[in-house]
Order: sequence, then structure tokens, then C-alpha cells
Amino acid sequence: MSRTFFITGGAGFIGSAVIRELIHNTDNHVVNVDKLTYAGNLESLVSVAGSERYTFVQADICDAPAMQQLFEQHQPDVVMHLAAESHVDRSIDGPAEFIQTNIVGTAVLLEAARAYWKNLQQQDADKAEAFRFHHISTDEVYGDLEGTDDLFTETTPYAPSSPYSASKASSDHLVRAWQRTYGLPTLVTNCSNNYGPYHFPEKLIPLMILNALAGKPLPVYGDGQQIRDWLYVEDHARALIKVATEGDVGETYNIGGHNEQTNLHVVETICEILDELVPYKVNGNSHHLPLTAHDSHKQLITFVTDRPGHDVRYAIDASKIERELGWKPEETFETGLRKTVEWYLANKTWWKRVQDGSYQGQRLGSL
Ligand code: NAD
Repeated sequence: MSRTFFITGGAGFIGSAVIRELIHNTDNHVVNVDKLTYAGNLESLVSVAGSERYTFVQADICDAPAMQQLFEQHQPDVVMHLAAESHVDRSIDGPAEFIQTNIVGTAVLLEAARAYWKNLQQQDADKAEAFRFHHISTDEVYGDLEGTDDLFTETTPYAPSSPYSASKASSDHLVRAWQRTYGLPTLVTNCSNNYGPYHFPEKLIPLMILNALAGKPLPVYGDGQQIRDWLYVEDHARALIKVATEGDVGETYNIGGHNEQTNLHVVETICEILDELVPYKVNGNSHHLPLTAHDSHKQLITFVTDRPGHDVRYAIDASKIERELGWKPEETFETGLRKTVEWYLANKTWWKRVQDGSYQGQRLGSL
């Protein structure tokens, strides 16, 4: 049965992976609702842009009349809410936008979904019964696991540390309240760090790949011993679609990759893959001029002052989604990271246009 997915934030890193999966591998329809902030890039959606099952609408989730109108116009079966401000460092420099989009925007979207769903209950009871609102969130809401071997489960108390994670925690609470108070059929997922193709180069893994290729320093916060669980973005996209279509209403599912790594290990592994795929030239004709033959990209690693409030360890127990919905990541850290490095090597036009800002030209609606 073909369904209409209303995806907010579909021009972002994870949203675009979800849309590519839905258009390439299912017969569902997608309405991508995205404001196109600096993080939105329609060039990540070139492969689906020509599909009759794909529609893009540039809109702000904080704009209540626009959201109401879009629900009425597109009559979605499933909402997947990914639109957010998502970069922790930006939330420390300027939290206001995070409060606005992540908290206010989620409330606006919930109200638009509730009005639409209430209407559906009068007009099409079966469609109302099957309607789902899936909120996509982060494991950062659970805070820091420093000094323990614990894993985050779905019942771990919330203890967010940064303005970003606090705003996501607030939005999770709103979604659960709308389910409990109004009966809106919601689901929540909390996921670990994602990585993979089309990742905006301010985030750790693409930043390190592109700096290393340019022979620039690889800035590692503090001593680099912060531990994160890494999940390949396409594995996350498949998990999200499973939860949205097969998950139980009112439930929360943690999603993770069983890949706990220190940040330093991640950066060193990227260097090792690059040493193999883009070796230094022995004749001194190196693409990284300050270095000499036989050097490793690891020499570019530079330790910088730690981020304030930096959580030391996150780790996810993803056994519920595995047990109840039969989802498992397909990529290991080694296969996923290699694929990611290879993707950046093969897709220079995509990231060069991000780096020089020309990707923002697509705001004019050319794609
Ligand atoms: P992203 O920053 O790459 O993309 C966010 C998208 O939302 C962009 O396309 C942006 O234009 C859009 N957007 C921002 N404000 C908007 C607004 N007011 N109205 C409409 N669109 C708006 O983020 P991402 O990494 O793809 O993350 C997507 C979601 O998944 C976020 O909610 C994030 O909290 C969550 N998440 C991310 C990770 C991760 O590792 N990246 C891990 C777990 C959860």
C-alpha cells in the first residue's frame, strides 16, 4: 500500500537519506517540507528530484498557517519530523534558534498534525486510525555516561547537557504529552551519532576527511577520549522507516550502531583509510605540501580546547528495536567509514559547492 510521507527537514543529512530510501526502494510518496537553512541542501536530493512521487515545499515548521495548509493539501499518512537545528557548537554560540525551531517548531507541527488528524477522524476513520507522527530525536537527551559501563535504554532519565540536547529533550516531552493528552498517535526515536554520505562538513567525520585532503590541521577537542556510538546514516534511515510504519504508538525506540569509539580513534581511522586511498607521493609531489613522503595524515591531528559542557560518553542499548521490529545495522564501523571516505573522494562537486556556498543557490527553487 503506497502511503504519503510528510517529511520535515528532508533536505538535511538524515532526512535526505530517508527520502532517497523511500523513493528509490519503496513505492511511497514523499512531501519534503524544509526551510532550507544553511544545513538544507537540495543537491543531496538530485537523484529523487525527478520522481513523480516526490514533492518539495520550502516552508518553516514555525509557520502555523503554512503547516495547517500543507497538511490539508497533502493529506499525509505518516509524518516524520526531522527538521531541527542540529549542531551542538552552534547551540552554544547562539541557543535562540534552537529554542525556536526545535521546541516552538515542534509544538506548531504537533498542533497542525492534531487539527488534521481530528478532522480525519470525522472524514476517514481508517486513515485516522493508521495515521502516525514520528519524532526523530537524539541520544544526547540522556546526558553523559562518564565513568560507567551503562547503556542508554528507553527508560533512562533525561539529563541533557547542551542547549541543543535540552531543546531536543523539550521537543520529545512535547510529543509524548500530545500522545498522552490528545491521543495523537506518536512515536519517538533516539539515535546515536550518524555519519555517511551528504554530511555537512562542519560535523566531525566529514570535517576530518576534507581537512585531511586539504592538508589542514585535524582539530580534536580536549584529549579526544570522548566516546560516541556511530551509526551509518542509511542504517538509520531504514530503522526510521521501520519505526514509522511498524512501531507501536506511544513507544520510544533507541537506535544505535554498536560502535562505541573515541573521537581520536575515529580520526585516526579516517587517516589510515586516507593513507591507503590517497597516499603521499614518494617523489615529494605531495598533495599535502607541509608534509613529506612517508608521512601519515595522522600528523595533521591537533588537540584544541575542549567544548564547554562536553559529554564524555554516550552508548545506546538498541535491543528493543532489534527484538520488536527486527532491525539491525547492516554496516560495521569499518565498512561504513570506508564507504563514507570513498563517497567524499568520489563526490567532490557536492562538498566543494557546500564549502564555497554555491549550494545555497538552489534556494531559488532550481531543483
Ligand atoms: P541537519 O542539520 O543536517 O538537517 C536539518 C534540516 O532541517 C535542514 O535541511 C534544515 O534546512 C531543516 N530545518 C531547520 N530549521 C527548519 C525549520 N524551522 N523549518 C523547516 N526546516 C528546517 O540535521 P540532521 O543531522 O539530518 O538531523 C535530523 C534530525 O535527526 C534532527 O532532529 C536531529 O536532532 C536528529 N538526530 C541527528 C543525529 C546526527 O548524528 N546527525 C543523531 C540523532 C538524531
